[in-house]
Amino acid sequence: MEQERVKCLIIGSGPAGYTAAIYAARADMKPVIYQGMQPGGQLMLTTDVDNFPGYANGIGGPQMMTDLQKQAERFGTDIRNGWVTKVDFSATPHKVEVNDGEKEILADSVIISTGASAKWLGLESEARLRDNGGGVSACAVCDGFFYKGKDVAIVGAGDTAAEEATYLAKLCNKVYMIVRRDEFRASKAMQHRVNNTENIEVLFNTETVEILGDEGVTGAKLINNKTKEEFTIDVSGFFVAIGHKPNTDVFKGWLDMDATGYINHAIPGTSKTNVEGVFVSGDAADKVYRQAITAAGTGCMAALDAERYLAEKGLH
Ligand code: NDP
Repeated sequence: MEQERVKCLIIGSGPAGYTAAIYAARADMKPVIYQGMQPGGQLMLTTDVDNFPGYANGIGGPQMMTDLQKQAERFGTDIRNGWVTKVDFSATPHKVEVNDGEKEILADSVIISTGASAKWLGLESEARLRDNGGGVSACAVCDGFFYKGKDVAIVGAGDTAAEEATYLAKLCNKVYMIVRRDEFRASKAMQHRVNNTENIEVLFNTETVEILGDEGVTGAKLINNKTKEEFTIDVSGFFVAIGHKPNTDVFKGWLDMDATGYINHAIPGTSKTNVEGVFVSGDAADKVYRQAITAAGTGCMAALDAERYLAEKGLH
């Protein structure tokens, strides 16, 4: 297999990966990025980004990722299409196989920024009204503002759904919370917040049959899974908060993770993992904040940590 020695390998091309690349390239670490399965990451599925500081008039998600890529390229980042299929972190330099054995990278430092993917219900209407910016979203903090004063629905019963429902309730007229069982999964404290919010109506034992609307969401057809009664709610936004899956399967067995696969920080407040020379940034290690700006911030941290590590080892 062809081998290549790289000082700084960045895996993943969302805001975390590109920010790490900008810092690493400007520090002359000659970073190489493998973009992964979805170049640009989750923001490629977003329409307007209004909460990233510096864009006074907002920006489209895909445009923002093109800009970040260009900024990383401006300082000489080597950006490659491809994904990691295997790693061996048992010794340094770390071994990273790309594209099913096409090449083996020997990396002095590795920055993981593979992100996470939102889970979806799997309905045709959900995908259509998500992809055309029609009002289906997996991020209330990103998109709630567009539904100010309107009625919306949110699916899920975990901490994320509960937190996002209360967030939406502050902006929207009414929030329907669609819960498939007869109880929440969220912590007692979060349940309490939901129950104490007047404009949230929790629909227990309820599942989504279809999201209604052509160009934009106009409502949802729901079913009570106990009585089998179908009914419709009128909403103009439909939020899905049924969990995320971090894209970390390829690192299993090498890196410490929680039960869902989020990578643990070896030292809180840094980007260090349990393996020396391997750093993590962005949603691959963050199940709480999950914002573009926090991902970018931790990408910066990872590049600075990697630079210090390389300097300490006399590799840079
Ligand atoms: P969870 O996996 O905890 O919850 C997912 C929820 O979605 C569950 O209620 C589940 O229902 C429901 N669900 C899953 N699939 C479907 C489906 N197909 N249709 C309808 N409902 C479905 O994910 P979260 O994102 O809420 O949380 C992930 C982790 O992050 C948790 O550990 C949580 O505690 C943590 N977190 C912490 C926060 C904080 O500390 N502030 C904030 C946000 C998250 P069911 O219950 O029936 O399985």
